[in-house]
Amino acid sequence: MSAFRNSPNILFETTVTATRRLSPGFVRVTLGDERLRDLAPHQLDQRIKIMLPTTGDYPAGLRAGLPEQVWRREWRSVPDRERPWLRSYTAYRTRPTAGELDLDFYLHQPHGPASGWAAGARPGGRLILSGPHVQAGQPRYGVQWEPGPATRVLIAADETAYPAVRGILPSLGPGVRATVLLEAGAAADAATLDDVTAGHSVEVGLRGGARGGTVLTAMVGDWLAEHGAAAAGLGNHFYAWAATESSRITQVRQLFAEVRIAPERVHTQGYWHDRPAREEVAD
Ligand SMILES: Cc1cc2nc3c(=O)[nH]c(=O)nc-3n(C[C@H](O)[C@H](O)[C@H](O)COP(=O)(O)OP(=O)(O)OC[C@H]3O[C@@H](n4cnc5c(N)ncnc54)[C@H](O)[C@@H]3O)c2cc1C
Repeated sequence: MSAFRNSPNILFETTVTATRRLSPGFVRVTLGDERLRDLAPHQLDQRIKIMLPTTGDYPAGLRAGLPEQVWRREWRSVPDRERPWLRSYTAYRTRPTAGELDLDFYLHQPHGPASGWAAGARPGGRLILSGPHVQAGQPRYGVQWEPGPATRVLIAADETAYPAVRGILPSLGPGVRATVLLEAGAAADAATLDDVTAGHSVEVGLRGGARGGTVLTAMVGDWLAEHGAAAAGLGNHFYAWAATESSRITQVRQLFAEVRIAPERVHTQGYWHDRPAREEVAD
């Protein structure tokens, strides 16, 4: 039985309509297509999948409108060397009435297929993506942010999760106090979030020569050393969301466990691999 038989996601064929360099590490790519009016704007940290062709163009079988269960089968049937790379991105800014979507790409160095595509994207370029159809229901599909009754939240992110932070912060009610921990390669990259972090407590840790995710993990540890016991005492009124390099995630979870914060009050997620990513067969 396919893991995707209940997925609300379908394929969209889009065209680049604009690109904008936001900072040294980020480019915003605007995608347009009539059918993007059907892309559900769930916002927050809503995940979509993008496909990057390994050869000049996409295999013919991957067409707009295919449901995820079907496109996954088509995708797997493409010979290895021609099978498009799949990567996860955040659809934090979907504009259904305009048939548009912005994706903010962090430009890894060296580039992988997705960041390399974004660095060279020009108006007229094509991108196939998979995201939820507005009429399919399941508004939580691909959304991990679940603060429940929390009035105190900790959000920790490296650059790959800035678009999710950008989607999440405006959703916080006036009674919610947030601390935002950001790892950054350059201060100007963290500054791209200034408009949404304003009014919240923000700490930026510059990576320097460290491996991705190590500075953020240390920042989470420092924060918990100071505030962890109080956060644990809040029970359901505390919630943490942390996303960074995959190999750091076990340690991040451990840090929360050490101060006895209940695991269900913490969402941690590997957002990228500090090595070429494996081809994904599941979500
Ligand atoms: C739910 C979710 C949402 C996300 N949203 C976003 C988003 O909105 N924006 C965003 O920027 N990212 C986002 N990410 C992260 C994004 O999916 C990863 O960063 C993605 O893997 C980048 O793909 P890539 O093809 O550019 O790099 P990959 O091929 O995945 O490479 C990853 C790393 O390996 C390195 N690498 C690749 N090839 C080599 C090589 N030959 N030698 C040495 N090193 C190499 C790259 O430099 C990079 O550091 C999200 C992830 C998840 C899980």
